Amino acid sequence: MKKLDGKEVSAKIQEQVKAEIESLKEKTGRVPGLTVVIVGDDPASKIYVRSKDKMAAKLGINSRVIRLDAEVSRQELIGKIKELNEDDEVDGVLVQLPLPGKFDTWDILDHLDPGKDADSFLPAGLGMILLNRSRVFPCTPAGILKILEYYEIDVTGMDVVVVGRSFIVGKPIAAMLTNLHATVTVCHTRTKDLPAVVRRADMVVAAVGKAGIIGPDMVKEGAVLIDVGVNRLNKKEEVERYCTERQQEKFVKKGYGICGDIHKDAYAKSSYYTPVPGGVGLMTVAMLMHNTLQLFKKRVKT
Ligand code: NAP
Repeated sequence: MKKLDGKEVSAKIQEQVKAEIESLKEKTGRVPGLTVVIVGDDPASKIYVRSKDKMAAKLGINSRVIRLDAEVSRQELIGKIKELNEDDEVDGVLVQLPLPGKFDTWDILDHLDPGKDADSFLPAGLGMILLNRSRVFPCTPAGILKILEYYEIDVTGMDVVVVGRSFIVGKPIAAMLTNLHATVTVCHTRTKDLPAVVRRADMVVAAVGKAGIIGPDMVKEGAVLIDVGVNRLNKKEEVERYCTERQQEKFVKKGYGICGDIHKDAYAKSSYYTPVPGGVGLMTVAMLMHNTLQLFKKRVKT
């Protein structure tokens, strides 16, 4: 088994993005602009937004965060998005999800210019993926493909099982892997016999949000294990059952441990696996920077 190191791949992406921004700045006199809109004060969202802002600044992206009160009206929020659509200095916009419950997510996102959709969540972007014509992909699935590319894992002809069918991970990664000539099966809560389906997989992509749901008995010898799940556990017995030793130490110090959807005991059966934390999760923000650069290049027509 070999660990697929998200930190290493993310660092490489960041290095490439930074170098390209520097060279484009010389040519065009401009740098990409990314604006993140956050509504309300969800603690996890605030942490994500801070890390996005920090990385953007580090790579030379003109980064801005617009913080709106949870009480903001639908009209005001849509008005802000339309303003950003018209702003020439802004190449990418990201509306941090989840929005407060009173908003219908799509009713809001539909007002964003698809040419500035840094997350590539809009129907136009997802449609382009289905047609295999996309240049910008949703960040987490894009990060998975970068990891596979970096470690030269060719998915052609592989039987891939994707567990989870969200529009941010499961569905797009299934289409993207199909475009790369894998044979893809997508599982969800209504799948009849999840263990039997997963057992056939040459590669498993788990995007569920349930600690250790993919157990060692469900994994074929030599399978590639890609774990998107991020589960924060704070009960001792759960931490001991699902978390790596390092995370168990963290639990002792901080009162919680992080684990993925793939049980740690399954790693030993794999050919490659992404750890949690330290795998796919570290790619997502780097791919947002990559996407912002692609949108910028499209807008300045380089
Ligand atoms: P989501 O919208 O929460 O959906 C979860 C999916 O898992 C659904 O399709 C659901 O099926 C399926 N599911 C739930 N329980 C299941 C079960 N017992 N058997 C089979 N399928 C089951 O998912 P998400 O937003 O993609 O997030 C998934 C996980 O990835 C979460 O832990 C999240 O924190 C993590 N995540 C990490 C990153 C990152 O950067 N690393 C990015 C995004 C998400 P139904 O459709 O039938 O309900």
